[in-house]
Amino acid sequence: MTDFDKLTEDSPKEECGVIGIFAPNEDVARMAFFGLFALQHRGQEAAGIAVSNGKTMSMYKNVGLISQVFGPHTLDGLKGHYAIGHTRYSTTGSSLARNVQPFMIETIHGPLALGHNGNLVNSTELRQRLLEDGVGLSSSSDTEVMTMMLARAKDETWNERIQCCMKEWVGAYSLVILTRDCVYAARDPWGFRPLCVGLLPSGGYAAASETGALHTLGCEAIREVNPGEIVTLSDNALVVHQALKPHEPLARCVFENIYFARHDHVWDGQSVHHVRQRLGEELTREMNIQADVVIPVPDSSIPAAIGFSRLSGIPYNDGFVKNRFVGRTFIEPTDSLRKRGVAMKYNVINENVLDKRVIMIDDSIVRGNTTGPLIKLLRNAGAKEVHVAITCPPITHPCFMGVDMGSHEDLIAHKRTVVEICRMVDADSLTYLSLEGMMRAVGRTEGYCQACFTGRYPIEVDLESIKTGFEKSFG
Ligand code: SF4
Repeated sequence: MTDFDKLTEDSPKEECGVIGIFAPNEDVARMAFFGLFALQHRGQEAAGIAVSNGKTMSMYKNVGLISQVFGPHTLDGLKGHYAIGHTRYSTTGSSLARNVQPFMIETIHGPLALGHNGNLVNSTELRQRLLEDGVGLSSSSDTEVMTMMLARAKDETWNERIQCCMKEWVGAYSLVILTRDCVYAARDPWGFRPLCVGLLPSGGYAAASETGALHTLGCEAIREVNPGEIVTLSDNALVVHQALKPHEPLARCVFENIYFARHDHVWDGQSVHHVRQRLGEELTREMNIQADVVIPVPDSSIPAAIGFSRLSGIPYNDGFVKNRFVGRTFIEPTDSLRKRGVAMKYNVINENVLDKRVIMIDDSIVRGNTTGPLIKLLRNAGAKEVHVAITCPPITHPCFMGVDMGSHEDLIAHKRTVVEICRMVDADSLTYLSLEGMMRAVGRTEGYCQACFTGRYPIEVDLESIKTGFEKSFG
């Protein structure tokens, strides 16, 4: 992500997307490539694919978007029946090239590669233990710590080694693991991050962060990798092993519903698109404002704006056109273009807001650096009033489970009232959906992490730790 992108984006940063494939007689590298393409929204900083042919393992990874990292040449060099892939936004460990995943090493049990979505909250301690045991580490990533722990595990089989390590890992992990002749998909017992598995049309199997990626590959019979499970994708039928008892209650990330997942993902058995529409409906119930038009901040707020409009009777229309690709480049804009900020990313459809009282629906306000400029764009286009409606409560606490929201000080709602934020962004009104309203839309009373809204973390966290905590030793 460029500095310019940081100026024009104010959503929590997605963590990562993972994919795992076993497909005999198929070009698994290309399948992984297209699967990762469907997960690009979960991480845009780096990508990698590791492949095994049953004897040897090969890998290619680099910083950049998937289409920038891979070309026909690099994919042609990755031959085999088993593959894992990863697309990355940095969580633990900065965006340095050495943190790009998968991590691949040679072990006493054969080659091993790992791709991880999430963040361990006890990685500092685990890392220290490895260093004290004389294990050298080359990156600041918790995924390397997990890889080294797997390599050192003494048990008989990979399944047992993974299970043994899972007992020590505390935090969020949805993993794809590649060995010489197997792909494993494993998920933490809290179920923080999504992971699902399906049957490929050719008879093999695929695992991915989101159902949309599995549909891209033509998968059927899709199911979640349940919290605490290890699923083995290999020559044998899909083998499911409940390695750890699921935590009670579970702690699925509620933000998957609000922002991270693509609309077409099925999360906790529910369509994300439908949950987002219900978030909009709940906002209607909690707002009492007269307006002429409802507009979404594209893309994640579109279903909520549809739901809002449907229940309130206020017409829905497009207010912004987003250039999805302007920040997705490593070319920094000129200074004069940079000053245009969000105006480079969003154009207003003037005639849809001119002389209108506008309700602008957005998924979240994190640092608050884009809400004000978006309101200004609407006012410059002739909007009479701009009322902002957010499909979740104020974000007051950072996430330690793999989502970059910054620290307490970075969060606009930490230590500020809604009235103060409304004034700061120059809105005519600002409404956040209540916690109760959000959970009504999700349709669950428990089983979800809501810590960034409440400060009640489902696992013990070290409030002092920051995501670049390991960076000190790597300068
Ligand atoms: S703190 Fe927020 S973003 Fe992090 S896992 Fe919990 S709900 Fe998701």
